[in-house]
Amino acid sequence: MYIHFPFCRTRCPYCDFFSVPLNKAYPIKELLKNELALYRETGELTGVQNIYFGGGTPSLADLSFFADIIGGFASPEEITVEVNPEDADRDLLNGLKASGVNRISLGVQTLNDDALTRMGRHYSGKRALRTLEQAGLIFGNVSADRLIGFPGDSETLLETDYQAFLNAGPVHISAYQLTLNGTQKKYFDFDPDNEHTAELYFLTCEILEKNGFRHYEISNFAKHGYEAKYNSALWRGEDYIGIGPGAWGTVRSRRYSNHCSLIRYEKSITAGRLPISSEEILAPETIMFEKFMLGLRTDDGIDAGIFTPLLNLNAAQAAVSEGLAFVSDGRVRLTCKGMSVYNEMVCYLSGPSE
Ligand code: SF4
Repeated sequence: MYIHFPFCRTRCPYCDFFSVPLNKAYPIKELLKNELALYRETGELTGVQNIYFGGGTPSLADLSFFADIIGGFASPEEITVEVNPEDADRDLLNGLKASGVNRISLGVQTLNDDALTRMGRHYSGKRALRTLEQAGLIFGNVSADRLIGFPGDSETLLETDYQAFLNAGPVHISAYQLTLNGTQKKYFDFDPDNEHTAELYFLTCEILEKNGFRHYEISNFAKHGYEAKYNSALWRGEDYIGIGPGAWGTVRSRRYSNHCSLIRYEKSITAGRLPISSEEILAPETIMFEKFMLGLRTDDGIDAGIFTPLLNLNAAQAAVSEGLAFVSDGRVRLTCKGMSVYNEMVCYLSGPSE
């Protein structure tokens, strides 16, 4: 289950998620609880194994927000909260733990102060590192985000950041390559250099794998046993319910999205209706193609036998000889080089044979 907390302190110029400035008067907790109650009535809320609080900035919520929502579920396995370093002190982290949260995803991005300022982030590298250390001591199961390819990013900066991360000891690192659409480029006043970003991505794979992290998904690296359970279920194409303004979900081939407008979201819930703005029934071939795409994101790859109707074998062979993919146990998997051009690889491997 994904729970979207739609508020941030301010908007980061490179961000593409749905979020609005913090409005403490908006009854988000009550509305989310009512949305959950509506799902309980549909019978679709049984067997929730993992809960992910994302946003927006869920670490801006009161601690009672987490305790109240988590209390409605019978012991999920993994409960993650995305935390921004400027919100996190020992009290918040201890409070989250007492509420039942057992995994923290910390949006560090970099430890370089100038770059953080340019990205519109409101904390120092020192603060982020201290939070990473504290979260590690309190939770053990902590992930750190590192953005790759922001203005001023370099091999030296990347190595310095990872060295500090590794000393602080997170068991999971998410390394996202910066991509910007046209509007974001204008707003951020930056045009990412894809080639340089790819070089930094290769260096990321090298450093983290050398230090015992498994590269199990394009942007995700984990110490043994600390792969993210919620996200891994998504990459296997399993059902999930998304609640909150702007959230998405897929249940039994039905894909839906919630209202992005806080007013419309509140109106629907208050009227006793699920706040769904659009939905579609996924055709079997769409589901198959999504599983193909999702499989290629991970180090599990795709079963060449199951995906015979989609997989272009000639392209797969060419990708292997180019060092973009490899085949083992009948599965096609992308290498780090292949993952750096993931979108192109999906088109290439599923394209028509010549
Ligand atoms: S804090 Fe996160 S969700 Fe909010 S604007 Fe920045 S990147 Fe986007």
